[in-house]
Amino acid sequence: LNMLDLAGIPLLTKERGEDHPFVLVGGPCAYNVEPLADFVDLVALGEGEELTEELLDLYGEWKDSGESRNAFLERSAGIPGIYVPSFYDVSYLEDGRVSEIIPNNSAAPKRVAKRIVRDMDSVYFPERVIVPFMDIVHDRIMLELFRGCTRGCRFCQAGMIYRPIRERSPEKLLELAEKLVRSTGYEEMSLSSLSSSDYSGLEQLVRQLMSRFEEDRVALSLPSLRLDSFEKEFIEEMQKVRKTGLTFAPEAGSQRLRDVINKGVTEEDLVKTVSDSFASGWNSVKLYFMIGLPTETEEDLKGIADLAKLVKDCYYQTDKEKRQKGLKITISASSFVPKPFTPFQWEPQDTMEQLREKQQYLRSALRIKNVDYNWHDSEVSYMEAVFARGDRRLGQVLLSAWQNGARFDGWTEHFNWDAWNKAFEDNNLQPEFYAYRRRKKDEVFPWDHIDTGVSKASFLWMEWQKAQKAETTPDCRLNCTGCGIQRLGEGLCQ
Ligand code: SF4
Repeated sequence: LNMLDLAGIPLLTKERGEDHPFVLVGGPCAYNVEPLADFVDLVALGEGEELTEELLDLYGEWKDSGESRNAFLERSAGIPGIYVPSFYDVSYLEDGRVSEIIPNNSAAPKRVAKRIVRDMDSVYFPERVIVPFMDIVHDRIMLELFRGCTRGCRFCQAGMIYRPIRERSPEKLLELAEKLVRSTGYEEMSLSSLSSSDYSGLEQLVRQLMSRFEEDRVALSLPSLRLDSFEKEFIEEMQKVRKTGLTFAPEAGSQRLRDVINKGVTEEDLVKTVSDSFASGWNSVKLYFMIGLPTETEEDLKGIADLAKLVKDCYYQTDKEKRQKGLKITISASSFVPKPFTPFQWEPQDTMEQLREKQQYLRSALRIKNVDYNWHDSEVSYMEAVFARGDRRLGQVLLSAWQNGARFDGWTEHFNWDAWNKAFEDNNLQPEFYAYRRRKKDEVFPWDHIDTGVSKASFLWMEWQKAQKAETTPDCRLNCTGCGIQRLGEGLCQ
């Protein structure tokens, strides 16, 4: 809203005239875009590479045609993956839940399916990226190995909305890596994906990249490692050039809770991987967890502290000759936010009081030498939970909060709790309704007209039932669990 205001563009779509620009959003956060429905003209659902070209071609034609603004929106709605929020009416039940969402324009489909790129080798990938003069997040080459993830972690929205798996070939990746190193001069390359260590040709690729770029001293890093598939050999391979930080995400402190969330890694996986890492010369390990996951108990929280101690023990059990001095273990525990399009979309978030108590518990339990503990402000996580599963009425709250002075809220030091509280009060909406309410199986969600391909009733709900019994679902590369994505196109995910 701030950007639109600074650009002199009316904030509300209904106030934009024929000569105003179209406002288009996309990306994972825009899958449930309903809280932004009053402000955006168009939404790109799914992957943008092909869709953007089609939309721009259409825009050129439309400009030449001299047709109305609405005509462009109607024609855009015909492009697979384009959603025009103003072409849908939402009605509500007396208790505030959504009653139905229906198109009000014949150009709009009943449900809008996300766009999927089929061939990762032929699709556009940036080969000449801007190299900034200042420090930025991801200040390195980001080489995308593949899209999608088959692990099926139940809290993870990306794992559901990026299906199915599509890999780039090792040849294509080497070609891209070469071009990117030449055009940017970066000395670090991240092999990025949702679960990079699942790339089927990882070993071959890492070896080839290392031998190709060893002379240029380009360091490789693998983000978001899974403990079970990260072999010692790879650790050593990457170690050859330079040590980069190691991060692991067990997500939960006990095996029971890891089974609930379907994070199929074990304590043995963690022990093996960190022991190998310490023996290879790493001395700094970061472990990511979430608190407030469905079914969590004190035992699960205690498990986080136990794992921190276990990692410390692994370090001291490593041969003195091999390990490096200066052990540092960082435990980062964020607060769970239930996300739309996931098996946990029916569940309430823990209240702020519960989250604070859990953080307090961990603060004392993690008072261990060499261990640091980071946590997130519960107010921010609460607002995330409200807007993640919000409906169109929250647009008014956003507008009021902005008018009350809320700016740059993603930065904790700028988060203005009073501005948000007042905005909810002024619009007579309760944030608890969105964050703390357990939904019934058949509730119509504000995002039900958006089709990610993954089925709500036959996959997500069933996964939620299994979660409550701590039953796991295997990686669907091994055995297809029928998530429904094949509906979105012939030959998808064979
Ligand atoms: S269709 Fe089967 S294999 Fe493909 S993503 Fe869905 S569950 Fe996995």
